[in-house]
Amino acid sequence: MAVDFNNTEIAFHLKSDSELERAYFLFKMISIEPFVRIGTAATNFALKAHLPVEGLIRSTVFDHFCGGVNEHDCLPVINKMYGSKVYSVLDYSVEGKSQEDKFDFALKTILNLITFSKDKDALPIAVFKPSAFGRFDLYQKVSENKPLTNTEKEEWQRLKVRFETVCASGKLNNVKILIDAEESWIQDAVDDLILDLMQTYNADALIVYSTLQMYRWDRLDYLKEIHAKAKQNNFKLGFKVVRGAYMEKERQRAIDRGYQSPICETKKITDALFNAAITYILSNLESIHLFIGTHNEESSQLALELMETSNILNNDPRIWFGQLYGMSDHISFNLAEQGYNVAKYLPFGPVKDVMPYLIRRAEENTSVAGQTSRELALIKKEKQRRKV
Ligand SMILES: Cc1cc2nc3c(=O)[nH]c(=O)nc-3n(C[C@H](O)[C@H](O)[C@H](O)COP(=O)(O)OP(=O)(O)OC[C@H]3O[C@@H](n4cnc5c(N)ncnc54)[C@H](O)[C@@H]3O)c2cc1C
Repeated sequence: MAVDFNNTEIAFHLKSDSELERAYFLFKMISIEPFVRIGTAATNFALKAHLPVEGLIRSTVFDHFCGGVNEHDCLPVINKMYGSKVYSVLDYSVEGKSQEDKFDFALKTILNLITFSKDKDALPIAVFKPSAFGRFDLYQKVSENKPLTNTEKEEWQRLKVRFETVCASGKLNNVKILIDAEESWIQDAVDDLILDLMQTYNADALIVYSTLQMYRWDRLDYLKEIHAKAKQNNFKLGFKVVRGAYMEKERQRAIDRGYQSPICETKKITDALFNAAITYILSNLESIHLFIGTHNEESSQLALELMETSNILNNDPRIWFGQLYGMSDHISFNLAEQGYNVAKYLPFGPVKDVMPYLIRRAEENTSVAGQTSRELALIKKEKQRRKV
């Protein structure tokens, strides 16, 4: 069933007039590329120099894109969204830490989140990034099949235990675990790790979800290949399907090192592969569950059409739609209104630690042509609707 994503009354019903004004101001600023560049540099400088800017960041960009500084702080947002049938995925968004004690701390944080989520219907899913649990260079070395030193073997073992501990806790507490995808040159190691975990934890209920970045031209074949493996070995697959967030970096690295770029040549090809992946999974739901992570209206509508033609219920528990908090509320809330399963990634963390996340959101909204202007047009429409 097609859903009207232009219904701004439903899309923004949780936003007060002043929150709507703030969102408009924010997206207007983000749409100006030099402003984002200079603003980012100035903010980083101010935070490093311990200038008192946290309050300003918190009341503007932070509160728009994040739920709070810790999980308890996020509860008002979680409850408010759940009142409108939108679930939350708490996303501990502290990035770029690379020591063992930080990995152990990240593990502790995710385990606490699972415990925090287990009795809350609004929080059925937890998420983590592979780089939160281990050294980037180590993933790369394993992905490249290079021999590890004895110390590295121990380090890899500890990393594996972190993954396993989270999945075991997810299983015990009935909380689904989404594992994000990052740069392609660490993904082979991550894929192998997750495949083993899916064998262990997805035998009956589905707990572990990996991520497919469909801007990679090899991912549809990969999906089909491991689907065959899963069927042979009697376990289920879970996939978050996204387009992919590291395009420029991926392309630049391929140019710098002289190998074929793993990224599709055009957006059109990425779109076609994304749609092919969700079509494939939706026709194999008995063995693959789907979390569609997108702000793209056409792909979302396609999923709805496919569900309808296959007589799949709107709230079929095998299918989730996901957007990021602070973006594409017109998709999230209009889908939830029609009974589809919708979850928003809700980032949280200390203000200065989530800055890299916030900067990426600002840069993404500057570079993803159309997305910011669409947000602005929808907010403008709602502001006008409220005036009359
Ligand atoms: C809930 C959720 C979870 C996410 N998790 C992850 C994750 O784990 N890992 C990750 O990498 N990203 C993740 N993302 C981000 C995602 O990959 C996209 O960057 C973002 O959602 C924008 O894509 P879109 O489908 O929403 O929309 P669109 O605006 O339709 O697509 C933009 C995307 O298309 C692709 N693209 C743009 N131009 C070109 C081009 N010229 N050639 C080829 N491809 C092009 C890029 O991937 C770009 O990000 C997540 C997003 C959401 C909503």
